Amino acid sequence: MSEAGTGSAVDVVIVGAGAAGLSLAHRLTASPGPGGRPASLVLVEPPKGSPGRSPARTWCFWGDERDEFDSLVTARWHRLRITARDGHRVCFTSPRAYQMIRSVDFLHGVGGLLARRPGVRRVEATVDQVRDVPGGAEVTGHDAAGRPVRLHARWAFDSRPPRELPPARTTLLQHFRGWFVTVRADRFEPGVADLMDFRTAQPAQGLSFAYVLPFNRREALVEYTEFSTAPLTESAYDAALEDYVHRVWRPAGHVVTAVEQGIIPMTDGRFPRSAGESVFRIGVAGGATRPSTGYAFAAIQRQSAAVAVSWHAGRTPRPPMPHAARHRLMDAVMLRALATGRAGGAAFFEDLFRRNPPERVLRFLNGTSTLRDEWAIGLGTPVPAMLRSLLELPLLPRRKATACP
Ligand SMILES: Cc1cc2nc3c(=O)[nH]c(=O)nc-3n(C[C@H](O)[C@H](O)[C@H](O)COP(=O)(O)OP(=O)(O)OC[C@H]3O[C@@H](n4cnc5c(N)ncnc54)[C@H](O)[C@@H]3O)c2cc1C
Repeated sequence: MSEAGTGSAVDVVIVGAGAAGLSLAHRLTASPGPGGRPASLVLVEPPKGSPGRSPARTWCFWGDERDEFDSLVTARWHRLRITARDGHRVCFTSPRAYQMIRSVDFLHGVGGLLARRPGVRRVEATVDQVRDVPGGAEVTGHDAAGRPVRLHARWAFDSRPPRELPPARTTLLQHFRGWFVTVRADRFEPGVADLMDFRTAQPAQGLSFAYVLPFNRREALVEYTEFSTAPLTESAYDAALEDYVHRVWRPAGHVVTAVEQGIIPMTDGRFPRSAGESVFRIGVAGGATRPSTGYAFAAIQRQSAAVAVSWHAGRTPRPPMPHAARHRLMDAVMLRALATGRAGGAAFFEDLFRRNPPERVLRFLNGTSTLRDEWAIGLGTPVPAMLRSLLELPLLPRRKATACP
């Protein structure tokens, strides 16, 4: 098997050096591969400034000091808060810290580790196609100058964000814009994060909340997030943020130093993890996004760890489904109840935290809940609405999503 340009053989090509691509490259090459020799791996990322390249972002997840990428964590919060529309607060200590990694730090940190591994090579190219060929996979694309790039490998992992969403019974979007703000007077409690503050103006359909992650007493990331069917314009997000900041914080003055914006599909569609005998999809493209929450980073870590274990053991490194079947079912029911308006937007989440110990809800959000947790959570939801949504699921066709990622 040869790699165009060099004629060398590679075990693995990974398309995309984002959360999934870098995590998998790191785990595959951290120790020798099957037969005791180091993996030969090519990581492909579009050239700097090209439109396909994912913008910088922050990733939050629950973790602790034992985690693989702990040294890259920018900030962590042990106290978490949920604030209802009427100002009622649930505040609790999370057994595992809620923590943030900035994608630029991840890129440098993991990229630095990979640069010291002899079998790893980085290629700057925009990939157009990843397909099976006899004995392996072929990755084709073009570099910054438009010259064709062709790579061959035994296995290819594709993390390019999907262009369209899979057919689904329900598709909502989690869409948001965040400001990194500095305020003039002490305002924030470092170590305390507002996971959901519903004192935002609520949209006519769906729901909205603010998400506030302080870095110190005067600096924080504040995001306006909606779960609905269509994203807003930049100015509409800014107006919603301005409204929240002025009504709720009443700051003496604030400066926006940077912004982060994104759309995360919340869908019960199935993302195929195989695109051939030797071609697999990973990350968001491989179904890592939890439909009910939009979180994907923790699932990406579980998925890449499992792929690496299979590959090191000499087995087919097919990515596993990163979310348990019963979580996917609960999420499908919840999405349906929210999308049809049977479960009432902000009230649904406010009640979830009022009626359950917060630790139980956190385990659910984090994908570590037990059957008992889920049963208790289910009983605390509007049962007729959820039951109706559950019963109609088998009758609903999976339709092409009209919402775009
Ligand atoms: C703004 C934002 C904030 C988020 N915050 C969180 C969070 O706090 N917690 C959480 O759990 N999840 C979060 N998510 C969801 C998810 O974790 C992220 O989207 C995460 O980056 C997904 O990782 P990925 O590797 O699948 O995709 P990406 O990180 O987007 O990586 C895909 C890679 O493919 C590359 N690529 C694209 N096209 C091509 C091409 N043609 N050829 C070669 N390479 C290509 C891109 O440049 C990129 O490096 C967030 C998502 C967004 C958009």
